[in-house]
Amino acid sequence: MDIFEELGIRRYINAQDTYTKYGASCMGAESLRAMAEIAGSMVDLAEVQEKTGDAIAALTRNQGAYISNGAAGGLMICAAACMALDSEEAYRALPEKGERRDIIVQRAQHNIYDKSIVAAGANLVFLGEESVAPSEAELTNAITEKTAAVAYFIYHGRKGSLPLERVLEIAHTHGVPVIVDAAAQNPPAENLWRFTEMGSDMVIFSGGKALCGPQDSGLILGRREWIARCRRWGPPADGVCRCCKTSREAMAGLYAAVKAYLSRDEEAERRRLSDACARFEQTLRACGFARVWREEQGPVGQAFPRVFGEMPQGSAALFSEKMKSIGVYIGSDEADNVLILNPLMLTSRQVKEVCAALLRCHGM
Ligand SMILES: *Cc1c(COP(=O)(O)O)cnc(C)c1O
Repeated sequence: MDIFEELGIRRYINAQDTYTKYGASCMGAESLRAMAEIAGSMVDLAEVQEKTGDAIAALTRNQGAYISNGAAGGLMICAAACMALDSEEAYRALPEKGERRDIIVQRAQHNIYDKSIVAAGANLVFLGEESVAPSEAELTNAITEKTAAVAYFIYHGRKGSLPLERVLEIAHTHGVPVIVDAAAQNPPAENLWRFTEMGSDMVIFSGGKALCGPQDSGLILGRREWIARCRRWGPPADGVCRCCKTSREAMAGLYAAVKAYLSRDEEAERRRLSDACARFEQTLRACGFARVWREEQGPVGQAFPRVFGEMPQGSAALFSEKMKSIGVYIGSDEADNVLILNPLMLTSRQVKEVCAALLRCHGM
């Protein structure tokens, strides 16, 4: 009896997205092996954090790396590092007290994850409006002696935001660090160094999305002095960030995942995704979809293709419910009555299973 039978857990095929609530991604054999290896022995966690971080930094062309329990935990640790700097007293006072607890965010970038910054004890200072970027002068004027950092979310609210280049320039002119949330910004792999090369102090990625590391892992990549502060104040140290505890298994698993991710054959990967999309397009047409198209970007601007199909009749929401009931999760845009098929997390066998399920639901 396997674990699915023993606990009565259903499996599904993910043609939707790397959503945490649906498990997001599957780890590769490299990660599973690394986790099993490190799990069997006692080790000093600070040493694992340091050596694994240094190895990931070297792989990703960064000065330093810290492994957190996820991108959300990474936001919390970065925020705490910016507020505490090198002061034990300032760190111990978090989350209730502190002299420098303002973290600036553009209003358009406000999203469900900025609470992780607040959880560290920060006071979010929103600039601009939901769809109107603040002026550069507004950003400059908002920086005071109470400002600990500027946080920048890639893609979220991009139409109402100052570009990252300008934010970096202005923040750095005033001696303020910039925390970048790029949690879901893979592929391409180059994003692992692109934002730090632009000058960002700390850049956060989710380990459990497209990187296919452990679900409870995340990366903080960045400048040496900031990574040193993350190591000092982040777990295994106690204090406000202790709730971001990261296991040695997650650290080793993420290291193996990053290594595997960077050694992929990019061209073969592009072909794999394109072939999957071609099959989806063919199948939707066979189901009577007249408007079928491909977009070359993922839901938050990532570099991978997806297939869209406008329902010839009936509702896209209902169709995706039917698919779900037979174990295949797909996306739907209810406003436009469109199905969305994402090949990123599918094996070639699963691509065939998704196509078979589409044909089956079409006939239902
Ligand atoms: C997914 C996501 C997170 C959270 O990532 P976890 O690794 O699940 O904690 C944070 N920020 C953004 C922008 C995300 O897309």
